[in-house]
Amino acid sequence: MIESKLSAIGRRQEQYDFIFTGAGCAALSVVMRMIKTGKFADKKILLIDKEPKIKNDRTWCFWEKEDGFFENVVYKKWDKLSFFSDYFSDIMEISPYEYKMIRGIDFYNYCFSEIERNRNIDILYGKIGSIICDREGISIEIDNVTQRFEHATLFNSFFPEQEPDSINSKKDINLLQHFKGWIIETPHAVFDPGKATFMDFRVDQARGTTFAYVLPFSETRALVEYTLFTKDILKYEEYDKELSAYLKEFLKIADYKIIEEEFGVIPMTTRKFDFFTGNGYNIGSAGGQTKASSGYTFQFIQKQSRLITECLLSHDKSLSEIPGTPARFLFYDKVLLDVLYNKRTTGKEVFTALFKKNPPQQVLKFMDNESSFTEELKIISCLPTFPFLKAAFNQF
Ligand SMILES: Cc1cc2nc3c(=O)[nH]c(=O)nc-3n(C[C@H](O)[C@H](O)[C@H](O)COP(=O)(O)OP(=O)(O)OC[C@H]3O[C@@H](n4cnc5c(N)ncnc54)[C@H](O)[C@@H]3O)c2cc1C
Repeated sequence: MIESKLSAIGRRQEQYDFIFTGAGCAALSVVMRMIKTGKFADKKILLIDKEPKIKNDRTWCFWEKEDGFFENVVYKKWDKLSFFSDYFSDIMEISPYEYKMIRGIDFYNYCFSEIERNRNIDILYGKIGSIICDREGISIEIDNVTQRFEHATLFNSFFPEQEPDSINSKKDINLLQHFKGWIIETPHAVFDPGKATFMDFRVDQARGTTFAYVLPFSETRALVEYTLFTKDILKYEEYDKELSAYLKEFLKIADYKIIEEEFGVIPMTTRKFDFFTGNGYNIGSAGGQTKASSGYTFQFIQKQSRLITECLLSHDKSLSEIPGTPARFLFYDKVLLDVLYNKRTTGKEVFTALFKKNPPQQVLKFMDNESSFTEELKIISCLPTFPFLKAAFNQF
């Protein structure tokens, strides 16, 4: 099916109403919503990605109160989360929230099987180089060949390899959230599948903010991740060393089989992202949907996708009217990044204070950018004053 669509594009230059450069989480989230409304069947849609999604290349975790749009591909959910640090540990009941996990491959398979049933949607595989929009249309360089499209609305969800220097201002703070995880299987029951470990800060903090998390799927199978918020990534073998040390020292697990691995890097940056550019609309991480202070993105993508679809359906709203992240949340994120980057205090101190002094639901709401200003004042008042004041002045 995909092959035939691809060759159809090769033979004759089709024209499209909507073009998505990058067909990952954000593009698929918008397209799936467009399909589900049933109102876009007469619109031609093109998805372009450098490669087909055949690997389980990531695991998405997020929290929500009700069934979400992708509920049928949720692999596992938990209503209890553990938090560990040297001087505070807790098992937190997070109801009405549930902490949910979606495997990348289940999400991709579900989306592409739906998409393939829609004859108005084409998929093209090729590496995109430049994208240039002018008054008459869009020129997209795909595998070094420029294809011309007229009057399509463009949604882009990947970062160009070479970005202009102006995008990364010298004042921007750039940290990396980098992590490696193993799905392990043990011969005996060692996990409690009823609760997940959200953050375990008992691990060594010498490199900077470092924590582990554990997502148990059954009594004998779990995803265990080792995560850092630092300027540079580690050598590959260092993550392995730390993961096996964490399993041995804190989970007391010595006998296990690694059945899958995950590695990821998520930029945590104070950089400004624009939704609308001269070349179309940036969505997903490329459109600023990654929360700079936590790396969580999935739910922000879902909110943005819902707004985009509603806007496309409405005759009196233009996409450029879609509100961006409220300025005060961008400021909080900048301040926390400044605190961590300049080592004004540790991530372990910050997250321990947050969870020790607030109900978990309030912290999750705050991390979702959904708290009220009064709730935020209460949360902020729990944080170490001087480091945050200094960072706030620096970022103001
Ligand atoms: C391993 C990993 C785990 C993560 N876990 C979580 C999590 O638990 N919770 C959470 O909220 N967020 C998580 N994130 C962050 C975020 O949710 C994901 O990165 C998410 O996939 C972002 O969606 P996106 O559409 O913006 O980008 P992507 O899903 O990365 O989509 C971009 C697409 O563009 C394509 N592309 C890139 N370059 C080109 C090119 N030159 N030509 C053509 N196509 C191109 C890529 O193949 C990809 O399909 C994780 C990220 C990673 C990497």
